[in-house]
Amino acid sequence: MSTRRPPCPRCGRTHHAGYARAVGLFGPSEGIRYRAHYPDAPERRTRAEAVQDMCDRYATKEDQ
Ligand SMILES: [Zn+2]
Repeated sequence: MSTRRPPCPRCGRTHHAGYARAVGLFGPSEGIRYRAHYPDAPERRTRAEAVQDMCDRYATKEDQ
């Protein structure tokens, strides 16, 4: 059974875990945050949000 998913209709790419990375792993225990994998990406509480930021970035880039 294939694990591939169809590309995102918004950014035209298939989302994957590499879109986001955890930050704050060695900081206070209160918080791991996630950031999309591009400079100046905002910190998010969930990986899903950070992935969405990456999606937004790709989608925006194609518009410009
Ligand atoms: Zn997308």
